[in-house]
Amino acid sequence: MDHQKSVKKGSIEVICGPMFSGKSEELIRRLRRVKIAKQEVIVFKPMLDTRRGINRISSHNGDHIEAIPIDETSLILTYAEEHNVQVIGIDEVQFFPHAIIPVICALVDSGKRVLLAGLDLDFRGIPFGPIPVLLAIADHITKLQAICTQCGKDAHHTQRLVNQEPARFDDPIIQVGAQEAYQARCRNCYSIDKKPNFYEHAD
Ligand code: ADP
Ligand code: ZN
Repeated sequence: MDHQKSVKKGSIEVICGPMFSGKSEELIRRLRRVKIAKQEVIVFKPMLDTRRGINRISSHNGDHIEAIPIDETSLILTYAEEHNVQVIGIDEVQFFPHAIIPVICALVDSGKRVLLAGLDLDFRGIPFGPIPVLLAIADHITKLQAICTQCGKDAHHTQRLVNQEPARFDDPIIQVGAQEAYQARCRNCYSIDKKPNFYEHAD
């Protein structure tokens, strides 16, 4: 039996869904409530996601909250320690490498409440980066849907468009000179030329 007095463990909440499903909106809402409860909170995002401002996370509804851009996952532990926070928020968690997983586990072991938001699937319909593991080890999962831009039903997918046409499965991620856009689409309106092979893409 372990008689050591141990720290009370924290928890993991994951908010996932396609683009425009309100993941950032929901993350910001939960973080605001933490602040109202006068708990200390710190928020991170991947360095590469600077589309909507460098030091903030923003929702497509115009809401935003301050966040620290991170290019080295272990810095999350350093910052959380330095600021002595109870709650940690991370947006766009799908863009972090798998090294984010032990970092999140260490935070939970030291008693932190960890709030994560990220895309569950990429535009090909393949589970995104560390998301499958994070969903498996989460205490609570919220799976959101957007509104399909084509028919108005609930949208499960993120449709990638290149020059206004549905992107192909094997299209390179960044195409020089191409106009790229993303839309929320339901399973019926989503269009891709190939089905994902989940076994091939599993880590
Ligand atoms: P996510 O983080 O999942 O991309 P955001 O929180 O940034 O989502 O944006 C959600 C907001 O986007 C909605 O509240 C709404 O105002 C707006 N929005 C724009 N297009 C759509 C759409 N197709 N479906 C749902 N919301 C949309
Ligand atoms: Zn549709």
